[in-house]
Amino acid sequence: MTAPGNPHGSPARPWSSSDFRAAARSIAATGVRIYDHGWSPATSSNYSMRLNDRFCAVTVSGRDKGLLTEADIMVVGMDGTPASEGKPSAETGLHTQLYRRLPGAAAVLHTHSPASTVLTMHYPQEATLVLEGYELLKAFTGITTHESRLEIPVFDNTQDIDALAAEVDAAMDAGRITHAYLIRGHGVYTWADSMAACYRQLEALEFLFSVTVQRRMLGTRT
Ligand SMILES: [Zn+2]
Repeated sequence: MTAPGNPHGSPARPWSSSDFRAAARSIAATGVRIYDHGWSPATSSNYSMRLNDRFCAVTVSGRDKGLLTEADIMVVGMDGTPASEGKPSAETGLHTQLYRRLPGAAAVLHTHSPASTVLTMHYPQEATLVLEGYELLKAFTGITTHESRLEIPVFDNTQDIDALAAEVDAAMDAGRITHAYLIRGHGVYTWADSMAACYRQLEALEFLFSVTVQRRMLGTRT
């Protein structure tokens, strides 16, 4: 296939094929771990890694995340346009918004977990989830003590991904987003400067969401 934007028809692509293979392997392996936790049921969720300033690798739409392989990963431009075979995840625009906005973001993970769904649906007036005082907050890049407060904004769900990406952008302008955001009745997005750091944050988030549900069931208003 001729690389997009290459008028000379040479086989060179505007991304490194070894970078793509490494990203695809990392996304597939991480995706299977996420599925095994029960955070990505029924082909939901999407994952990505930056390849360079102009392209990222992202999961193909509708793939079973429990069976994810390198063949389920494709390349898109930072405007969301497919740059290799396949149809990208419907929410690709939320990944590319983060990469455009945050030059240090190397990986983005998005899940549809039970705890994030329960928390955001059961408290429809809650526009921010506050996580405070937990030792596991140290799993987040830049946080070094449990005496920290992580505020996670909750956006209402929509199928209009461009509109949601604009909302996220505006919330970043306002300084409301640091490590993650939630979408009501839907799931969470988090990002970091490596896939390992991103997965660590996701695991901490899912743990803390689950803990918050359990504490509220016990009657603690967290
Ligand atoms: Zn989703």
